[in-house]
Amino acid sequence: MSIGENIKNVRNNIDICAERTGRKKSDITLIAVSKTKPVSCIEEAMKAGQTIFGENKPQELKQKYEAHPEVSWHLIGHLQRNKVKDVVGRAELIHSLDSVHLADEIEKCAKKADVIQKVLVQVNVTGEDSKFGVSPNELLSLCEYISTLSHLRLLGLMTISQKGMSNEENKAVFSTLKRLAEEIESKNLNNVSMKELSMGMTHDMEDAIECGATMVRVGTAIFGERVYN
Ligand SMILES: *Cc1c(COP(=O)(O)O)cnc(C)c1O
Repeated sequence: MSIGENIKNVRNNIDICAERTGRKKSDITLIAVSKTKPVSCIEEAMKAGQTIFGENKPQELKQKYEAHPEVSWHLIGHLQRNKVKDVVGRAELIHSLDSVHLADEIEKCAKKADVIQKVLVQVNVTGEDSKFGVSPNELLSLCEYISTLSHLRLLGLMTISQKGMSNEENKAVFSTLKRLAEEIESKNLNNVSMKELSMGMTHDMEDAIECGATMVRVGTAIFGERVYN
């Protein structure tokens, strides 16, 4: 199957799942996760109408942005403070904001570049040590802090489910993220919206849509397995 056909299938699955769960398909954005894949693959996806791509490494995002500044690049992976300058202004949305220090650095770079950087806060719902993201009980204070920064715009939350979990376990994680977003929303913080929920990947996309995902991040089902060397 070609990348174009894969995209058609994934879109079709999103539409079917949205319909089945009473969601509007237009409320769900597909982010094609192109990490490790060459620009030629991205161009194939673009031919199939895909305009939003996700990368997990700042340096790779920067290089691919230079090749195609006209499409929308999302940073979905962990961001270190010394890499912030590579992504601010290039990434349409940073999904992985998870600390006050990182928020300060993004604010500083966005101010310097005279842009408003859109962000999501990554939440570690499952509590795994190996995972980035704020814990649910640190979430409100981080959102309150972000709300005071004039060059950041917080649009919602992001999470990653744990590998090997059942559908029910995935849905528990995703429902928790949705509930956390509703809690934050109810605080009516300045400049803070909780409209976007970035959750769901190839193996758990449908669970996430069922629980309210507005952005799904799909790599393998579009570009095939990744080869790391
Ligand atoms: C790699 C990655 C994805 C895509 O995963 P697939 O299983 O290939 O769909 C989604 N989200 C994040 C944060 C990733 O790093």
